[in-house]
Amino acid sequence: MSKPGFGPMPDEKGYFGEYGGQIIPPDLLKAINDIAASYAEICDTDVFQNELRDLYSHYVGRPSPLFFSERLTARQGGAKIFFKREDLNHTGAHKINHCLGEALLAKHMGKTKVIAETGAGQHGVALAAACALVGIKCEIHMGKVDIEKEHPNVTKIKILGADLICVERGTMTLKDAVDSAFEEYLKDPEHWFYAIGSVVGPHPFPMMVRDFQAVVGEEAREQFLQREGQLPDIVTACVGGGSNAIGLFTAFLEDEEVDLVGIEPAGLGLETAENAATMTLGTKGGLHGFKCYILQDEQGEPLPVYSIASGLDYPGVGPQHCYLKDLGRVRYDTVDDHECLDAFMVLSRTEGIIPALESAHAVAYAMKIAKDMSPEQTILVNLSGRGDKDADFVADRLKL
Ligand SMILES: *Cc1c(COP(=O)(O)O)cnc(C)c1O
Repeated sequence: MSKPGFGPMPDEKGYFGEYGGQIIPPDLLKAINDIAASYAEICDTDVFQNELRDLYSHYVGRPSPLFFSERLTARQGGAKIFFKREDLNHTGAHKINHCLGEALLAKHMGKTKVIAETGAGQHGVALAAACALVGIKCEIHMGKVDIEKEHPNVTKIKILGADLICVERGTMTLKDAVDSAFEEYLKDPEHWFYAIGSVVGPHPFPMMVRDFQAVVGEEAREQFLQREGQLPDIVTACVGGGSNAIGLFTAFLEDEEVDLVGIEPAGLGLETAENAATMTLGTKGGLHGFKCYILQDEQGEPLPVYSIASGLDYPGVGPQHCYLKDLGRVRYDTVDDHECLDAFMVLSRTEGIIPALESAHAVAYAMKIAKDMSPEQTILVNLSGRGDKDADFVADRLKL
């Protein structure tokens, strides 16, 4: 199965180069391969594509706008900065794009419950909404630390009718929520569906979630060409698991003149243990059913990771990103908590747009590099989500 414009496809075992695959217990392999087979069967059909595209338009509000950030550009001086406004999507981020795809697939397969983990709560909200819409039971696992930090999203998940499971093990954040959700799924993989929240996990999820997010780049590339008459010089997005980034990058993979840059969280600093810069500091390893770069200890156990943005604190990263890094097609850089908070406030006060703390990492990177570029050059940033969920946290932190 190969789609024009979708970039490199994994091999039949789900590997992008040496990354990815299906490193899972044999009793899970059948259920996961059923998902792969069902997806392969319906993904290119008109019925599935029409249903998904119709929801993208009339439920999500696609296409999301491409916004020229004129005032931020003037403030920084140098390259023109553009935002792909995924923050304007229904439920507030890019995640609804793949949640609708996964919920539709689960329904098609006759599954009775959709299970997932969530970090910042964005995947939980988007999935709970998609499951309400499609009419499937939904169960969301979330770390206790994130539950306290992301209260508005927790409330929304409950209102949308999903069961919320509070995870109180390990660092009580995203990685532990994944472990917990995975264990629950293992109890009845035949009748339940695991909706992974990023381009991670065993094949087919990295490919499938990428395909559902590719609409972001398809739209952005066309919108950009139409507005500027040329492609952007730099295309950038924050990388947690990597779904919003790969969704945007996919359309540009074959445009070699376009510099693609993924931004990881440096947290309190790359020299401290408090970061989640997987690509920059990680080594090859495995977690959650796939091979990737990972922040791990000497025993190969994932290290506790940290970022001010809950949606970015994951010790691994999508296999296609690892492959693209090795190929040299995508560069990975970092932004720390301090730069992120600064970008969060600057964008809010310069353009009246409150970005998610995750997205603010990519904004900070654009702000950093724009001034060293010429006014003829352009930067396209994925504004992956809105910062309503982070507003109280930031106000507290900055004593506003
Ligand atoms: C979850 C989330 C991310 C990180 O996930 P990716 O899979 O790396 O995109 C980034 N931005 C927002 C707004 C999110 O909610």
